[in-house]
Amino acid sequence: MVTTVLFDVHHGRRDPRQPQIHADDLAVVRGDGIFETLLVRDGRACNLQRHLDRFATGAARMDLPAPDVAAWRTAVEGAVAAWAQDNENADGLMRLVYSRGRESAPAGPQSPDAATALVMITAVGANAAHARERGVRVCLLDRGYPVDFAGRAPWQLIGVKTLSYAANMAALRYAAAHGFDDVVYLSSDGAVLEGPRSTVVAVRDRELRTPPVESGILPGTTVAAIFALAQARGWVCRTEPLTPDDLLAADSVWLCSSVTIAARVTRIDDTDLALDADAARGAAEFAELAQRAVVTA
Ligand code: PLP
Repeated sequence: MVTTVLFDVHHGRRDPRQPQIHADDLAVVRGDGIFETLLVRDGRACNLQRHLDRFATGAARMDLPAPDVAAWRTAVEGAVAAWAQDNENADGLMRLVYSRGRESAPAGPQSPDAATALVMITAVGANAAHARERGVRVCLLDRGYPVDFAGRAPWQLIGVKTLSYAANMAALRYAAAHGFDDVVYLSSDGAVLEGPRSTVVAVRDRELRTPPVESGILPGTTVAAIFALAQARGWVCRTEPLTPDDLLAADSVWLCSSVTIAARVTRIDDTDLALDADAARGAAEFAELAQRAVVTA
C-alpha cells in the first residue's frame, strides 16, 4: 500500500492523515497560490532546479513572499528520502503547494511565516503510464485570448502555475465527454498554445518545435530539459509559433509534462496521426531522449 508523505516547509514531517490546511486558507477560498508537480524517481526529485526557478518566478508574479529556496530544498529532500524508504523506491508524484496562508492570519497574509508551504508525495496515477505507452487523442479547444494577450494583461497571470486550475480540469472533462484523452488549446487567433497540463512539441526529422512562452503559455520544465539534451545531441530545437496544420504535418506530436514526460498524440480532432516506419523510429528516439532528459535533470 502506498504511504503518502507530507512535509510542512516550516515545521517538518507531518501526518498526512491529519488536517493541515485551515478552512480559510487563501488556497482554499481563492485558489490564490502556486504549485509545482514533479516526478520522484530513483530517490530524487527530477528536474528540481527548473521547478524551483519557476516557483520563484511565479511567486514574484503573484506578489507572494519570495520562497526560502533552501528550506524548500530541505523539505523536498526529506520527503524524497521518506518516500523511498516507505514505498520501495516506486515512482512518486511530488507537489509543492504555496499560498498566502489564512485570510484571517494575525500577521497578515503577506508575512512569510503565515504562508502555507507544503511538499507532498503520492502515487503516480495509472493514467501517466497509459498515456506514455499508448499515446493520447486530443481535441483542439479555443482558449479565448489572442497570442499577444499575456503581455498586455499581466493581471491574468497567464504563464503562472497558480492553484486556480478549475478551467483546465473542466477542459479535460469536456474532452473526455467527447471521446478524447486530452486537449491542445488554441489562441483565439488560431495558434497552438499548450495542453491544460502539458507543453506541445512537434518532431520532424531531428528538429523539435514548441510554441513561444510569450504566446500565453506556462514555461514548461520538461520541454526545457528535453531541449537542453536534444541540443547537446545535435538536434535542432526551435521555439516558434505553430498552427494546427504544423502539427498535422509533423512526423510526431507530443504532450510533454513532468510526470508523464512525453505522450504521443495519436489523433487530433477527427484526424489520426499514424506513424510510418521512419516516423516510428524517430518517435522511439524522441521518447527515449525525453525520459533521459527528465530523469537526469
Ligand atoms: N502547461 C501547463 C498549463 C501545465 O499545467 C503544465 C504542467 O502541469 C505544463 C505546461 C508542463 O509543465 P512541466 O513540463 O513543467 O510539467
